[in-house]
Amino acid sequence: MELGHAIIAVVRPGDRKQHGVSYVEFETIIGLEVHAQLLTRSKMFCGCSAAYQAAEPNTHTCPVCLGLPGALPVINREAVAATVMTGLALGCSIPSYSKFDRKNYMYPDLMKGYQISQYDLPLCVAGAVEFLGVDGPRRVGIRRVHLEEDTARLVHRSANGRAYSLVDANRSGVPLIEIVTEPDLRSPEDARLFLMTLRQILRYLGVSTGNMEEGAFRCDANVSQRSIDGTIVGPKVEIKNMNSFRAVERAVSYEVERQRAALLRGEPLVQETRGWVDEQGVTVSQRTKEFAEDYRYFPEPDLPPIFLTDADVEEIRQRMPELPAARRARFVEQFGLSESEAVLLTEERAVADYFEATVDGDVAIARAAANWITGEIFALMRDRGLTIDAINVAPAQLRRLIALVDAGTITLRSAKEVLIAVHETGSDPDALVAERGLAQVSDAAQLEAVVRTVLAENPAAVADYRKGKKAAIGFLLGQVMRHLRGTANPAVARQLLEQALAEGA
Ligand SMILES: [Zn+2]
Repeated sequence: MELGHAIIAVVRPGDRKQHGVSYVEFETIIGLEVHAQLLTRSKMFCGCSAAYQAAEPNTHTCPVCLGLPGALPVINREAVAATVMTGLALGCSIPSYSKFDRKNYMYPDLMKGYQISQYDLPLCVAGAVEFLGVDGPRRVGIRRVHLEEDTARLVHRSANGRAYSLVDANRSGVPLIEIVTEPDLRSPEDARLFLMTLRQILRYLGVSTGNMEEGAFRCDANVSQRSIDGTIVGPKVEIKNMNSFRAVERAVSYEVERQRAALLRGEPLVQETRGWVDEQGVTVSQRTKEFAEDYRYFPEPDLPPIFLTDADVEEIRQRMPELPAARRARFVEQFGLSESEAVLLTEERAVADYFEATVDGDVAIARAAANWITGEIFALMRDRGLTIDAINVAPAQLRRLIALVDAGTITLRSAKEVLIAVHETGSDPDALVAERGLAQVSDAAQLEAVVRTVLAENPAAVADYRKGKKAAIGFLLGQVMRHLRGTANPAVARQLLEQALAEGA
């Protein structure tokens, strides 16, 4: 690769030629490597619990995951199935033959001095994922999905001015998948949007929590610049240490600017690994190509290869849930929801499940259910910091609430009060309506009495109305509602108010 005199300037696409000077246009090439921990009960090659997050250090360990001599690994079948399901969801082919390999390197968090991973024969190959990018639908190729084990965790401390590190082997041997994309992404924003789509798929499958802050979902990005005509290809820079979607977008943006600025000045760029420093908003060089490790991969002698028949793969495919994109499309088609409503309701699988359980096959109430969930239920979740699973309103109770409003038994305003009360007390909507006297008042005689009282109490508003300020009726209706604590049937009350005002009573 030769950089230098050919480049006069780097400009945005579209500014091909100015003032008779030739410009070289560059585009950004991004490929991602994503690691996701699998939600299996036990670890990848031993029977230790994989639920290590809240455990005391070094309590979920055994000779296998501590890497003691003579300990033999055993393949976790569920982890293999979860990887294959992930591959299927990402449109991959599942080769009938796959194997594990040893990746050799030395690091204090690697108990055995090697990691069991997959090298040339991964479980899943050649897939593609479609997602909505900033400029519309995008497609990203998936080169491979392979299965490996996580490392132990180093905890860095300091005491009396001296730094030291502790090793916690609870994470050692937790199943980990690595998803490698083709270099098909072209912008930092799309990199973030793709990652969010990928995580949503993993969560729908139930194979990973996808929690970036806890390290259950990690991303490295390979970023380079290439001239549009393909004559200049900048070196690939790998960025590590990004632990949020926002960090990925910021780190890649920074790197794009850094590389473009170097190309513009004619400075050489090197193939290297750089770490993202979130607080400073910069990437810093960690190691260059000359020091890249040689992992000396070789087939893992302690494990048999994996043979998967078509029937095995089909059995896993049958267990695969409906994926977010398909569910979104079905919500629009089947329930007549808008695209944006469908996006909101399918973002989390649990919310989509809640919506469908509320509708319970009755398409007529789908719109009301969508409004209630994206409105009142989401507000409740937001205000109290709860997930949908922690909302103490069963889908059947919400369904009943919608029916009570539909039947005119309670007003929308009362229904909102009942919803909160159901969440707080667990009582049924009907019981709460009776207990709190929230039944809607539609009885004309009862409402008429209240209307007369309100008109008598508010001569100024009555006068305004009669002088032509028709908006004053809104205030008067509010007063009727206040007298009946929100239970007045608004349509009947308004009609009675209009009559009484017209009569000049
Ligand atoms: Zn173990």
